[in-house]
Amino acid sequence: PDRAGPLRVVYLDHCAEPAGGELALLDVLPHLPAHGVIPYVVLGREGPLLERFSDAAATRVLRLPDAAAKVGVSGAGTRGGRAAAGAATLAYAVRLAALLRSVKADVVHANSLKAGVYGSVAARLAGVPLVWHVHDRLSEEYIQPSMLQIVRPLVRRLPAAVIANSNATAATVPPRERVEVVHGPVTTTAAPTPPAPVATTYATLSRLSPWKGQDRFLSAFARAFPGGRERALVLGAALFGEDDYAAALHDLVAELGIADRVAFAGHVDDVGRVLGSVDVVVHTPTIAEPFGRVVGEAMAAGIPVIAPAAGGPLEIIEDGRTGLLVPMNDEDALVEALRKIAGDGALRRRLAASAPAAVAPLAPAPVAGRYAEIYRALLPDS
Ligand code: UDP
Repeated sequence: PDRAGPLRVVYLDHCAEPAGGELALLDVLPHLPAHGVIPYVVLGREGPLLERFSDAAATRVLRLPDAAAKVGVSGAGTRGGRAAAGAATLAYAVRLAALLRSVKADVVHANSLKAGVYGSVAARLAGVPLVWHVHDRLSEEYIQPSMLQIVRPLVRRLPAAVIANSNATAATVPPRERVEVVHGPVTTTAAPTPPAPVATTYATLSRLSPWKGQDRFLSAFARAFPGGRERALVLGAALFGEDDYAAALHDLVAELGIADRVAFAGHVDDVGRVLGSVDVVVHTPTIAEPFGRVVGEAMAAGIPVIAPAAGGPLEIIEDGRTGLLVPMNDEDALVEALRKIAGDGALRRRLAASAPAAVAPLAPAPVAGRYAEIYRALLPDS
């Protein structure tokens, strides 16, 4: 290939769950052809997003089943388990390398940590440059140490380039050349609507997981608005086995005495559709978000957002102008921010007016352009 011609890029993901990294890829795919990229997608297992990947404009989904659920670290607790996982990874990588050759891939883009593990091996076998897109901070805070032990040396040596979804994520990537920070993509289907005179609906949009801190949001909501007319809306479902936490949230709202003012919507396919009836979005992770698409989506929709002053949100929100930042894990500060935003209509109008422009450069179309530039820089000059 040359730097000007069309590029065949094979996107790898180990799963097809509707989590941030996978939805981010889905958002970008339709915008790639405008930048000369022909996208192929290989998913390591079936899942709810399979159909949406297949329907994405210009995208071809290639099937290479039965892979990644076993890949990497499953059973890594024992030596035998590690050996078996390693053998399964290698066997999959060999099959994947053959697929990469058969479609004449110019670049491989690994979109998850597990995909990076088998993808970096496969790309090496096929002689194709790999871009490893890191959507997670490589931190023990929420990634198994056994997984980090595998990922860190690989991500340092094997990819031709690394994309990190924030500076916070990039800071956790072992030192190496070509680490590009690309914030986003974020987009919304919600039409911006001017803030209502009184804020009544406070929503949290993340999948249900202990570190996403929906419990923190609900406790602070109960304290900020005791017995008021305010409503809390909890969007999202447990995607990766956190069902006990989901059940505990229902117990919590009963304990807090707010069950009649809290609605659990479960997973919603198009969050934008719901945002129109939301006055404030509140994001309360207990550890620094690598990026936090939900924050950017609220901003794109012109919904005032409260988020922690840490990780991705700290990089995309200008406190008091495009959102409100509160110290992470500080319930008193969160309660105060909720009361402040509730009582100050002018503040909400200001945030709503400024936020969409702040995230416009993070939209899927410009992000697709950044990817294409990164791919082309890896090709020989001729
Ligand atoms: N989301 C969704 N339906 C829901 C709740 C969340 O589609 O009911 C989406 C949300 O719009 C966002 C993504 O899930 O695009 C979450 O991405 P984020 O980066 O915030 O978190 P991650 O899942 O990557 O940890």
